[in-house]
Amino acid sequence: MIAPFIYSATTVRVIFGVDSFAALAEEAKLLGIKRVLVISTPGQTRLAHQVATQLGTRCVGTCHQARMHVPIDAVQQTLDQVSQLTVDGIVAIGGGSSIGLAKAVALETELPIIAIPTTYSGSEMTPIYGITEHGVKKTGKASQVQPKVVIYDPNLTINLPCDVSITSGINAIAHAVEGLYAKDTNPVVSLMAEEGIRALATGLPIIYRHPDDIEARTQCLYGAWLCGIVLGSVGMALHHKLCHTLGGSFNLPHAETHTVILPYVIAYNREAAPDSMQRIARALGVQDPARGMYDLAKSNGAKVSLREIGMKEADLDAALHIALQNPYWNPQVIEKKPLEALLNAAYVGEAP
Ligand code: NAD
Repeated sequence: MIAPFIYSATTVRVIFGVDSFAALAEEAKLLGIKRVLVISTPGQTRLAHQVATQLGTRCVGTCHQARMHVPIDAVQQTLDQVSQLTVDGIVAIGGGSSIGLAKAVALETELPIIAIPTTYSGSEMTPIYGITEHGVKKTGKASQVQPKVVIYDPNLTINLPCDVSITSGINAIAHAVEGLYAKDTNPVVSLMAEEGIRALATGLPIIYRHPDDIEARTQCLYGAWLCGIVLGSVGMALHHKLCHTLGGSFNLPHAETHTVILPYVIAYNREAAPDSMQRIARALGVQDPARGMYDLAKSNGAKVSLREIGMKEADLDAALHIALQNPYWNPQVIEKKPLEALLNAAYVGEAP
């Protein structure tokens, strides 16, 4: 039986496929933007200059200030640049860090964003923003930060390092996993979630062996797009809250933390969300979804324990305390003992 549901469609225009980057100048023209600022991380200046060249006279400046978790000083400096150059639109190239800075600027200015994602983390498909001030990351939702156009060109992901590709891809899978059992999920989101997991689980092992396989890169970008829609459409649960806590309070790397935690959260929710578990297992092509996720990470070279990604054993109690502080919805009730067991298992990386 199909239960009643609400589905809110996003109105993003998506240009997908090999060489779709060539459409950039035309897309800027269609949006009516004539004075573009290009945003990237310091590591992606070469890509940013490629974007500037593509835009020609429509580009009035570049900004390479984007950093993880969008520090407020970078936002302020970029806002100053926007005002000095009378910018009327932004092109963000890179991952969640570049797109995150563009969103923080759009939050203040309502400037339209064209996003060109080169990782799989999915920020381009959401109206969610985050800004870090005095060590605290504030997040929120606002329609003006949702990019108007997203260009997915697999060619631009060929140089994404293999380890970043794997953890970023599993970060995307985490959106789909939690979207399947979200309180406000719906059949359309579930279709995208299952297909997103399938595409990434197919592509990632090929990328691990052959990082320049364009077909696998295309599969993964397609999967990332679908998983990003899921993230932007429905509420997340234990996994995202736990990763937010661990990343924010103990400064653990974003995608790696998602990669370590996901198999244990799937195991935690296994009995409470049987239909979602069946879909995750089917998409991964395995019997047990938690073990399947763990194996996908481990067999493709990812670190599978909190210990390996920099967590200190002495901080586990504090992490448990913070995670229990604000109760939130999850298919399985969140309780101290099982959550403690989850964190301990994730700390050493034992198979779930
Ligand atoms: P990232 O943007 O920080 O990129 C990771 C690294 O990969 C960077 O060093 C970057 O320079 C490099 N890189 C990116 N593209 C490359 C390429 N083509 N070739 C070589 N190197 C490349 O990582 P991310 O995981 O995409 O984003 C993480 C950030 O995004 C976090 O702050 C997270 O909170 C945020 N995020 C936000 C949302 C949202 O909806 N608002 C969703 C997901 C992630």
